Amino acid sequence: MEKEKNLEKIVSLCKRRGFVFPGSEIYGGLAGIYDYGPLGVELSMNVKNAWRREMFRLHENIFELDSSILMQKRVWQASGHTSAGFTDPLRECKKCHHRFRADHLTEQGIDKCPDCGGDLTEPKRFNLLVETHLGPVQDDSSLVYLRGETAQGIYVNYNNVKISQSASLPFGIGQIGKAFRNEITPGHFIYRMREFEQMEQQYFIKPSEADKYFEQWKEERLHWYLDLGIKKENLRLRPHVTGELAHYAKAAVDIEYNFPFGWHEIEGIHNRGDWDLSRHSEYSGQDLSEIDTGTGKRFYPYVIETSAGVDRLTLAFIVDAYEEVIGGRTTTTQSIKEIEVVLKLDHRLSPVKIAVLPLSKKEPLVNMAKDIASKLRKNWNVQYDDTASIGKRYRRQDEIGTPFCISVDFESIDDKKVTVRDRDTMKQERMEIGKLEIYIAEKLK
Ligand SMILES: [Zn+2]
Repeated sequence: MEKEKNLEKIVSLCKRRGFVFPGSEIYGGLAGIYDYGPLGVELSMNVKNAWRREMFRLHENIFELDSSILMQKRVWQASGHTSAGFTDPLRECKKCHHRFRADHLTEQGIDKCPDCGGDLTEPKRFNLLVETHLGPVQDDSSLVYLRGETAQGIYVNYNNVKISQSASLPFGIGQIGKAFRNEITPGHFIYRMREFEQMEQQYFIKPSEADKYFEQWKEERLHWYLDLGIKKENLRLRPHVTGELAHYAKAAVDIEYNFPFGWHEIEGIHNRGDWDLSRHSEYSGQDLSEIDTGTGKRFYPYVIETSAGVDRLTLAFIVDAYEEVIGGRTTTTQSIKEIEVVLKLDHRLSPVKIAVLPLSKKEPLVNMAKDIASKLRKNWNVQYDDTASIGKRYRRQDEIGTPFCISVDFESIDDKKVTVRDRDTMKQERMEIGKLEIYIAEKLK
């Protein structure tokens, strides 16, 4: 039996087990900012590695980049981010001065301050770029922006990558990196943050092939989530309607996930047309166009973008994997009436792959178990745990999604065998210590 998921439980698990902590917590926090703990780093790193593998290893014509967070402010003028296209409508309470997204208030039919009931100002446009200053003088000339998306770093390096890698259309450039947006109302835990991480890929193509590649990327990206274990019923594609399209987009579709707080975007697939390369050519004076070998005419490549949020995805993977079993999965007396949590993450994403658990804290079991753990550590992230009862230790590992628990008992000393327990089936298999590595390698493949 499974209970309804709610965000509070996920947030609490994330804090308790070291996935995600509130930013600057000992100082009372900082709105819209979170820190990843030891297990959160592992999990989000596994998400990023799965994406990197998909993009750069399985596609021979997609190249990886790591561009700077800080760029010349002209970049953001060219991209349109400093003008109205990258603003949110803001209304402020005249009494408590809390700020709200005007469009969110309108959606909910609210015309007074949701916090104190005070009157609200008329909506005004609020730019989302985060500003800072570079150099010793703080004036307009030293103003720079923390990038609002990683994509622009890709466009400004278009020629560098193309020439250095001898690439020709169609080809892609992708990168993983931090981006910053001064969200008026951050929220839903790590879903909408002011500092966040993106995994973006820009696929450069001939304009005539835009529809074909838009469809192709939509399918490929959707499949990626399914392959990593997200349940089909929790994913959907939502095309943007005309009024909703970003300033650069010709067509757009969101991959949405069914979060405890509703259906929300985890990745966007956009046909950005020739907006980006033509604008950067115009603003920089550098020619980023291509020549059509058939007609001899110059054109700007179109871009199909796949833009995913690492944090949103990480949250989606946790939510999707989270299962509560009332009364417990085991039938032992002590677990009755307890709620057991199992994080059924795909093995590739699990932060810890193997837990090694000696049945006693005494020698020679501890030595033997530590020896097994240190051998397996060469290939996988392994936790060693000799505290509490074995049942409790199994549940601790289930809760963080560890696929395999290896228990070392007194018989192990004589028969050189251990018991391997599978997280999902709870089946226990006795096997020779010497065969562990091959067995686990096969299972984690
Ligand atoms: Zn108010």
